[in-house]
Amino acid sequence: MSAMSVGAGEDTAVGTAPAAASRPVPHVCVAIVGTGFSGLGLAIGLKERGIDDFVVLERADDIGGTWRDNTYPGAACDVPSHLYSFSFAPNPDWSRAFSPQAEIRDYLRRCAVRFGLLSHLRFGHEVIDALWDEGERRWRIATTRGRFTADVFALGNGPLAEPSIPAIPGLGQFEGTVFHSARWDHGHDLTGERVAVIGTGASAIQFVPRIQPRVGRLTLFQRTPPWIMPRQDRAISRRERAAFRAAPIAQRVVRSALYWQREIGALGLVYKPAMMKGVERLARAHLEAQVANPALREKMTPRYRMGCKRILLSDDFYPALTWPNVEVVTDRIRAVRPRGVVTGDGVERAVDTIILATGFHVTDNPVARRVRGCDGRTLADAWRDGPRAYLGAAIAGFPNLFMLIGPNTGLGHTSMVFMIESQVAYIVDCLRVMDERGLGVVEVRPAVQEAFNEELQARMRNTVWSSGCSSWYLDANGRNSTLWPGFTWQYRLKTRRFDPASYELTPRGESPRAP
Ligand code: NAP
Repeated sequence: MSAMSVGAGEDTAVGTAPAAASRPVPHVCVAIVGTGFSGLGLAIGLKERGIDDFVVLERADDIGGTWRDNTYPGAACDVPSHLYSFSFAPNPDWSRAFSPQAEIRDYLRRCAVRFGLLSHLRFGHEVIDALWDEGERRWRIATTRGRFTADVFALGNGPLAEPSIPAIPGLGQFEGTVFHSARWDHGHDLTGERVAVIGTGASAIQFVPRIQPRVGRLTLFQRTPPWIMPRQDRAISRRERAAFRAAPIAQRVVRSALYWQREIGALGLVYKPAMMKGVERLARAHLEAQVANPALREKMTPRYRMGCKRILLSDDFYPALTWPNVEVVTDRIRAVRPRGVVTGDGVERAVDTIILATGFHVTDNPVARRVRGCDGRTLADAWRDGPRAYLGAAIAGFPNLFMLIGPNTGLGHTSMVFMIESQVAYIVDCLRVMDERGLGVVEVRPAVQEAFNEELQARMRNTVWSSGCSSWYLDANGRNSTLWPGFTWQYRLKTRRFDPASYELTPRGESPRAP
């Protein structure tokens, strides 16, 4: 890849960057954003291919992405540990079937060390603007701590990174404490307090059982009840861990078994939503076994097809709701007052702290407003009708830009790390092709991207996600621009090799766009 790296250039174009205008700007072959599984995964992929000329730009001061940011009590993965890790870096020491947050964060830290990434990481570097320079055929990237230019720019910032703060009237004037679950205020003691939790998604169901015994009163504001299945978490015994250490093949076998078991889940979600009725019966039995009170059961019973929103796993959420200090409120929130929350029926409940478990900006990620491709058009402009890409990785009008966990590569049934590894392989193979063919620019053909999305949306029509619920999978136009409608092995097959025929290819030294 050395030919793609052309050394330091002059800083000229990026408008909003704070750095001095004439200072030489470091140039790299690849600039990656984010140090979660995506960013680190791509960095490892580059290293493995012998590409050393790259930086990983991270706005925070530590690695870990979502596993660094989500530190709420009880945070853990809902995909089994043996599957939720890099295939090439198994961890025989997972302590539980479903790993707690700190273990996953520590695993990522260890990977960064083991694969020699530390010298590539740039902490405190939030990308504030990134512009494709057509003349120079490179990305000009401005961060809060300086500028870079890069031949290839890769976004690994993830769809679940920007907390969504609901537009509830009066929230800004609340005189108590307010925080989002992904920015947990560990300095704030909830003991004995009257706490309002807004939201009943994957985050809330994990921390509610942890805080319920501590708080004085917990009011849970639920808009839509989630479908919840038994979690069946368990400690992984010392003997099992020793066995995985001594015979790594054993862990690989377990991983494969988990992979195929989970993959079956795609059948009901993607191909035969009616199959979900059987699973709904199991979830209802779980609710009935854990909640005796008919009124609470009624409130907690979902009225949409299971899988339309993310299926949650928990053994302790329902029991937490049965305690006398908990109230589940299903009336809509009308407003927040300086000392309480008012619902549609006019009732105000006094609270000391409000915890927003209200999810993330998934289809309207603010980063999209900062990335500008050909003609200065932002990703947000290009995605006015909803995010779309080719293979969730490349976007027409944005040369030499790649995404990890881009549009339509999310999952409802198994490990995102599998998808990330597929994307990494695709991007690294693209760099190989660019190097071997002496290409300076690759840009997916608009017609290819359009055909890909048409086919994808046609498949989406019969999935459970289109069965009539509102979810974060859908964008503002009601289009599912988030999930992959298929088996993950199908995605792996599609991304196994870079497909040059789908791209406009410009040799190095040639003008990318003929006038
Ligand atoms: P989420 O699934 O988007 O849930 C947000 C919750 O807030 C929903 O119950 C939603 O209600 C509610 N809500 C949003 N705005 C509201 C408003 N204005 N008024 C009242 N309620 C409002 O967010 P999340 O729980 O943080 O999870 C997001 C995703 O992160 C998950 O789906 C999962 O992919 C991932 N995650 C994974 C894990 C894990 O592995 N264990 C843990 C946490 C998160 P509606 O349902 O009615 O919209």
